Amino acid sequence: MSESPVQKTDAEWKKELTAEQYHVLREAGTERPYSGVLTDNQAPGIYRCAGCGAELFTSENKYHSGCGWPAFDDAAQTDWVILRKDLSHGMIRTEVLCATCGGHLGHLFNDGPAETTGMRYCINSAALDFQEKE
Ligand SMILES: [Zn+2]
Repeated sequence: MSESPVQKTDAEWKKELTAEQYHVLREAGTERPYSGVLTDNQAPGIYRCAGCGAELFTSENKYHSGCGWPAFDDAAQTDWVILRKDLSHGMIRTEVLCATCGGHLGHLFNDGPAETTGMRYCINSAALDFQEKE
């Protein structure tokens, strides 16, 4: 895997993140569906990486997917996320990672809204920090 600009040890991440953020971002965990505080958030603003603060998604790309996690039809800047083939759990999926710190964010599926991109970035709420627009 290529080196991310932000490099920290596991001990440093553990100190900075909550247990759930650490599990998602650093151990590629998945929060329980409908448990994340941002799943149904509709407020205008920016979604940043909970690990490093990089801007990842905006409210303009958020939509209600009904899948139980925050869903976006596109990233704020395509090169601020990394897409990687994920063969875990006996499935072929596309993993979405933060390009700045390498943190696991969620997965990308191609069942998003047909009227826009057709993509669904299914992202863990715990991996995101929401910054409401003034
Ligand atoms: Zn990050």
